[in-house]
Amino acid sequence: MGFDCSRLGLALVRLKTEGLSEEERMLWVERVSEHLQAGGVEELEARYKDAMKMHILSHDKSAAEGSVMEKRGYWTGEREPTSSTSVGKCRACEYNSVCPMSLFRVP
Ligand code: SF4
Repeated sequence: MGFDCSRLGLALVRLKTEGLSEEERMLWVERVSEHLQAGGVEELEARYKDAMKMHILSHDKSAAEGSVMEKRGYWTGEREPTSSTSVGKCRACEYNSVCPMSLFRVP
């Protein structure tokens, strides 16, 4: 589509949300976005070190392309679906009670 993805990254923010209202959560989204754009993430983490932690992952174009190529087989009908390799993902999955490949079983 012509977007420049050379500086693309993923910001994973862990935030203690207990007790926060929806409005306060939205303020955090704005606060984090502003600091990401301005380059002041470290200062934000230092100021709120007991409440939040941010992980910045850089974009790996070849890894992303490889992942898409691997996954496309399912969508084009070239292969059967495969199970997740993570028990944690299956535990959180809404289909774990009916999925025959689920790695998580309700005790
Ligand atoms: S329960 Fe099934 S659909 Fe859900 S993540 Fe696990 S393997 Fe995938």
